[in-house]
Amino acid sequence: MDNFIEMTFEEADEQFKFMVNNYDEYASLDGLMFETYGDEVEYVKSKPENRIWMYGDGDDGGTYIWSGWGFVNRIGYLISEKPVPENTTIQIKMGSYWYCCEGCGTEIEDDGQLINDRYGEFDKCPNCCTMEELLELENA
Ligand SMILES: [Zn+2]
Repeated sequence: MDNFIEMTFEEADEQFKFMVNNYDEYASLDGLMFETYGDEVEYVKSKPENRIWMYGDGDDGGTYIWSGWGFVNRIGYLISEKPVPENTTIQIKMGSYWYCCEGCGTEIEDDGQLINDRYGEFDKCPNCCTMEELLELENA
């Protein structure tokens, strides 16, 4: 069985020590993220897989970092100085999905995309939906 561990970015950084991207001093994630193309990804690939981490979009619309080489929904990569133990997957939640209301411009943190599932077809927050739209949702 694989161990699945969730930790905060700070905990993972303390334990595994993420390396600074020396290719780009303005790299994302405070200079730690490597791009998915060119020299940067080649450098990532030159490292053992147990020191590679992928930053990407989760199924729930949030953003995460997972230990190991990944490809799907990737945004970038990180490299740690210390290897992740065998048969262990570590997940770090970096951000939630944000629902944006076209009506009032409000952005709402929407973990699990519950608001998006319900109000997404109108692109509005619950406050901006008209009575008719709300009734339509009730009857859906
Ligand atoms: Zn609104």
